[in-house]
Amino acid sequence: MFIFILLQARQTRLMNGSLFNRFSYLQRYGIRLQKLALDAGFTCPNRDGTRGSGGCTFCDNAAFHPAYASAGKPIARQLEEGMAFHRRRTGPDTFFLAYFQAFSNTYAPLDVLRQRYTEALETPGIRGLVIGTRPDCVDDGILDLLAGLKAQGAIVEVEYGVESVYDETLRRINRGHDFATAAGAIRATAARGIDTCAHLMLGLPGETRDMLLAMPRALNPLPLSCVKFHQLQIIKGTPMEAEFRSRPEDFLRWDPEGYASLLADILERLRPDIAVGRIVSSVPPRFTDRPWHLLRPEALVRLLEERLKERNSWQGRLLEADSLRK
Ligand code: SF4
Repeated sequence: MFIFILLQARQTRLMNGSLFNRFSYLQRYGIRLQKLALDAGFTCPNRDGTRGSGGCTFCDNAAFHPAYASAGKPIARQLEEGMAFHRRRTGPDTFFLAYFQAFSNTYAPLDVLRQRYTEALETPGIRGLVIGTRPDCVDDGILDLLAGLKAQGAIVEVEYGVESVYDETLRRINRGHDFATAAGAIRATAARGIDTCAHLMLGLPGETRDMLLAMPRALNPLPLSCVKFHQLQIIKGTPMEAEFRSRPEDFLRWDPEGYASLLADILERLRPDIAVGRIVSSVPPRFTDRPWHLLRPEALVRLLEERLKERNSWQGRLLEADSLRK
């Protein structure tokens, strides 16, 4: 099995011309798909007192919203405005996915979830759903609902905010769940045939380079189809900003070259069939006093490819056999 996976790593390299497994909707579904971020009016159990209060220390949801997504607007209208916005540059052969992004998009009674997901799927031009949520906000009923929508022909993906594989970090950022909860949700989702993605942050307080390089050991055994990484961004007014001010030595920071090297180190250890959906993000400048825009995503991808090429390396080259054990 291990040898097979290593061979697959080499094949991946030959097949898509990239040294890592870049996520591509075109490759996966054979059509051009664009995600439209939505605010469907959900809240978050880590803010309303159910799991915690105050939220994750890095969080300001407003920093991640496009202008057309707003909780007051009906879902269909947000999607129509999003499609109009994107069609100006994508052209008529692009289809769309409703990206339930803001807050926790499985945190509501089942009837409410069914109604909102259905409204999105009934909007002309929408081919499926991408549901961003916390791993402690799903249960059998919700996963069965999503599996049922997939069985009716919709594309369905779930993105879990995992953020870190280390419980001490999750406690420090007031996440309100542990890594075992994330692993359980990923397994339960994938068991229903739903594509499952983990979102992880690089540079959370207290995490060392060695901890980041060991992260694939925790991810490789999971039935993930995709991971997304991004560097920690310190948003104005958040508890994370106060923590950064008082203990800057606890935070790893990188310039673009250093960040590309870190990503290369991580990807060399990551299972090659896990697609990499994102490696960087940036909030609008008004949300941070410490803009860390690095490079545009495509420029950073080129830098990462260069790093891997100069090492004669690729995603999964340093995969450790025992990191695949469940
Ligand atoms: S990051 Fe997500 S889970 Fe954490 S407080 Fe913000 S909305 Fe809630």
